[in-house]
Amino acid sequence: MSTGIDKELVREHYQQMSNEHLIKIATEDAAGMTPEAQHIIKEEIVRRKLNESLIENVQFQNKIYTDEEIAHYYELARNLDCPVCGKSSSKLNGSLTSTVLSFIIFTMSSKTIKIACPACLDKANDSALSLTRIMGWWGIPSGIIKTVQAIELNKKSKKTNHLETANEHLKNFVLLKIKEFDVHQNDKQKLQQIILSE
Ligand SMILES: [Zn+2]
Repeated sequence: MSTGIDKELVREHYQQMSNEHLIKIATEDAAGMTPEAQHIIKEEIVRRKLNESLIENVQFQNKIYTDEEIAHYYELARNLDCPVCGKSSSKLNGSLTSTVLSFIIFTMSSKTIKIACPACLDKANDSALSLTRIMGWWGIPSGIIKTVQAIELNKKSKKTNHLETANEHLKNFVLLKIKEFDVHQNDKQKLQQIILSE
């Protein structure tokens, strides 16, 4: 949005919205707004005398995290109790488990990022591997292809389960849920819930 005309169009657009619609955008759909659009929607919230916490909401959804903050959330995640065995003796990491199940006429495949201690991550990959080895290859031909891919993914993923630092899967998981880590950073119970497998 570089010109004054664009800004006017955006302003008009927000001005024509119902309060309900504006509140919905401010609370749920403000992520990714340009700074200009954020500024305009904030002005509109003030003009209508809506609850000013909506402005904080727009800012929060568009918050840009520093490398230090992101690294802090990685560490927070790594220092939680393992959601599988409950132990806190080793730092947590992430793993991608990939499972393929074929039932003659159809093949189901699923990939899940799991957060747990290295030993539990190994177990999760191993159980995905065994299940896939038994159940994956039946479907022809996609079952066989997907089975080979899933086996490779689990094996590759297992290689980083014991890294001394946050691995890519843990990082991706935290980045996906960074707003939740931000909001609940001082509440261990809430953080534990975030890392539970879905
Ligand atoms: Zn564990």
